[in-house]
Amino acid sequence: MTQVPAYERNPRLTCLHTSVVDAGSRDGRAFAVLADTVLYPEGGGQPADCGTLEGVDVVDVQKVNGQIIHILTDPVDTGPVTVELDWQLRFDHMQQHTAQHLLTAIAADHFGWQTTAFHLGATVSDIELDAATIDPAQLQMLEDVVAAEIRAARPVTARRVSRVAYEKLEVRSRGLPAGHTGDVRLVEIDGIDLNTCGGTHCANTAELEAIKLLGTESLRGGTRVFYLSGERLRRRLGAEVARTAALRGVLGVSDDELIGGVESRLEQVKEASRTIRRLEDTLASLLAERFAARGEALLVEHLPGRGLPFLQRLARELEALDPTRAVFLTAGEGDEGFFLLSAGEGSAVDVPELGPRIAEVLEGKGGGKGRVFQGRVSRLSKRDEAAGLLR
Ligand SMILES: [Zn+2]
Repeated sequence: MTQVPAYERNPRLTCLHTSVVDAGSRDGRAFAVLADTVLYPEGGGQPADCGTLEGVDVVDVQKVNGQIIHILTDPVDTGPVTVELDWQLRFDHMQQHTAQHLLTAIAADHFGWQTTAFHLGATVSDIELDAATIDPAQLQMLEDVVAAEIRAARPVTARRVSRVAYEKLEVRSRGLPAGHTGDVRLVEIDGIDLNTCGGTHCANTAELEAIKLLGTESLRGGTRVFYLSGERLRRRLGAEVARTAALRGVLGVSDDELIGGVESRLEQVKEASRTIRRLEDTLASLLAERFAARGEALLVEHLPGRGLPFLQRLARELEALDPTRAVFLTAGEGDEGFFLLSAGEGSAVDVPELGPRIAEVLEGKGGGKGRVFQGRVSRLSKRDEAAGLLR
């Protein structure tokens, strides 16, 4: 590898004719080392690039002991090769990463909040600031100051300087990594920021298009600020607009009425649930009276389309009417459903003994305590056989 890789010499170079100097398999994955590369290896909070090596997909790029390892979907041979960069992905990384530099600089210089961490996510990115709280008005101010610097189209440049020169400069940095040797790479946002960074950056702040701060979250005594920048922001806005339009269609209301529309429908659902519960209570009482009138010591009933809570309600009503009776109730559709076995104080049915056996016959699982046993089953068609155990 030449001393400074192509992605650093020119972060906008998308294609390079070079050569594979080493190739093979590591941990079951094909890899290649190139004489030079346009693919950025993961580092400094910026994810690895993707691309192709003579048509073979590069799915990851890592720097290991100073060597840049390209992880491939298929093996390649050593020799001349063309390496191509997935520019859309890279430019997205450049936008989110450069946005972080700008946010970090403005947060520190205008608000006194230092950045303690940065995360470039697949959908949303965030920085962690050492501010105990950031209220919505402060967040809006931060976004507004950042927007002004985007409009200013400030040049963003990177350069390498000697360690001696670095020590003399006023650099916003948390220090160099342990064991760092040689030159120091600096990135500068003209008039705003000078920082150490090995990543790839937009050419000026205007290339960020915009930065939208999405919200905050308290974390480890600081505040995490979520943001989107550039093309990602436009795509996200497009998706949000489409989703809102779909919601308007579903609810048949305007944008302004959306929240009220959802709230009123949720209230309707709650009211309907209360009505259903009252009707089921009435139904359980009526059914219990009808079943009890048969005067059977063991009552066996199947209730299609009902659930376990209804069986429990019905069993309670039946026991209240006659505590000497045993009941074996099933409910459900087809073979899938529930069963409940209960026996009153005066019943001879041994629930702890028979409950598990019924669950086995009905190919299900159950549990219970005292004189009630219930469960979910998958073979309701065998309920006559199960009832036979009780008789
Ligand atoms: Zn950077």
